[in-house]
Amino acid sequence: MTSKDIDPHDTPEVFDVYEEPSKFLAPVIDYSISASDDITITPPPEPEEEIAVGRQVDYLNLPGLRTLSDPIKGKTRILVRVEQLLPKICPECGSTDQLKGNGTRRQFLLDEPRGTLSVRIDLRRRSFSCKACGTSKLVPLDCIAENRRMTLRLELYIQRKSLLRPFREVAQETGVSPKTVHAIFRDHVKALERVREKKCPMPRVLGLDGVYIKSKERAVLTDPERGLVINLVPTVQAELLGKALESMPGRERVKVVTIDMSRGLRSAVSHAFPRAAIVIDRYHIQRMANESVDRVRHRLRQEIKRTRGGVQMCHRKLLRKHRGQLTLDEQMQMERYFLLFPELKLAYETKESFFALWSAKGSVAAKIRYEEWRAACPPQLDFAFKYLHTAMENWGEYIFNYFDHPYTNAFTEASNRRIKDIQREGRGSSFETARFKAIFGTLMRQELKEAREQEPGYAKRRGTPRAKGPKPKSVEVSTNTVRAHRLPVGLQLALF
Ligand SMILES: [Zn+2]
Repeated sequence: MTSKDIDPHDTPEVFDVYEEPSKFLAPVIDYSISASDDITITPPPEPEEEIAVGRQVDYLNLPGLRTLSDPIKGKTRILVRVEQLLPKICPECGSTDQLKGNGTRRQFLLDEPRGTLSVRIDLRRRSFSCKACGTSKLVPLDCIAENRRMTLRLELYIQRKSLLRPFREVAQETGVSPKTVHAIFRDHVKALERVREKKCPMPRVLGLDGVYIKSKERAVLTDPERGLVINLVPTVQAELLGKALESMPGRERVKVVTIDMSRGLRSAVSHAFPRAAIVIDRYHIQRMANESVDRVRHRLRQEIKRTRGGVQMCHRKLLRKHRGQLTLDEQMQMERYFLLFPELKLAYETKESFFALWSAKGSVAAKIRYEEWRAACPPQLDFAFKYLHTAMENWGEYIFNYFDHPYTNAFTEASNRRIKDIQREGRGSSFETARFKAIFGTLMRQELKEAREQEPGYAKRRGTPRAKGPKPKSVEVSTNTVRAHRLPVGLQLALF
């Protein structure tokens, strides 16, 4: 008899192919006869409830909670069913024998995300009643932030992440609303603000620069030596900024202030830090020398356009390079242009000798060399170099300060870029939010960096030279996923 002979529609009453097909499709063989006697028969399974509890992996690893079943994975989040354990000792009076469960209540909480999925906890919260002291209430649970409906570690996670990432993004990642993220951020920075002066004291070298936040220029104060943003002042208006700087505690520590060529900043700084040396960022003045060469090049180009038609001109980038940076090919290329345009050669040489000033040792030597350079400047190039000359006349004192205090505004400007990023990412965030993110985000990054350097294996990994050959391609992995895999949940907490 084969399956072809059977038409289930013909015999609906006597034949259910889905229930017991073997009875009808194959001859019945009793296999137990050939089995040897020493095979142990597996015991019948225990009741289902007990298996689930006994073998259930503790998914959350939170004290006082027990996972009831395997987590249910959705597309954006994981749902975990847990119950609270009844304590053996009364949390109120400490008696051990007269405690009783007093029903449960269902609560939904959010927990730290795993990888790209947020985690929702379906909790059976327990009540207890104690005859010894007469208390009857919910069993306290230390691991949750009661007023926020989330675990304490999620709150910490949001505190930390919201300093670095836009609120919107943190909300999406954790399943919390952006409003709640903002509220957690606000409470957290309020607490941090109290320790700001201790954690970011006025430095010895202060970096000062302007940055636009909410279409108004603000002042950024940095500590370039420690790599920190100290503070943001809502205005760069000289008088107000001067007052704000004057009121900052610890200002007597400041010995050097780096700024760019802005009169407002200079007058505010000399008002608030009369004894500090003001240093003009050298890149600003060096850039002016490059721009002077550009002007000569531009004029020559206009000229050939008028008189000779389409003759090529030396590329601007080539003229930016120093002698030592040019390849042989580039040198030859440049010499060709210099033969055609002697004025261009002159401008290039003038720029190069201006850059050479920076090899001087000390401000006195630099000043002498500058005077020599100034005297040798060809007057026919004044149309292009006049801005540089004016800047040197107006700011010379502070530019030469660099030779005694070799600090630049590079870190401050990098911080400015970071602040602009914060502005772009967190569309419409206020000045205060940007200020806190800049100060405490940078501080946290720095503290994490220091902590990372303390971790075991850090120095060893750094010291190992990389094998020769092509650099291995980095694999795109979400840092979040990596972090989640590496650390047990409880250890993901920040140091911050
Ligand atoms: Zn009690």
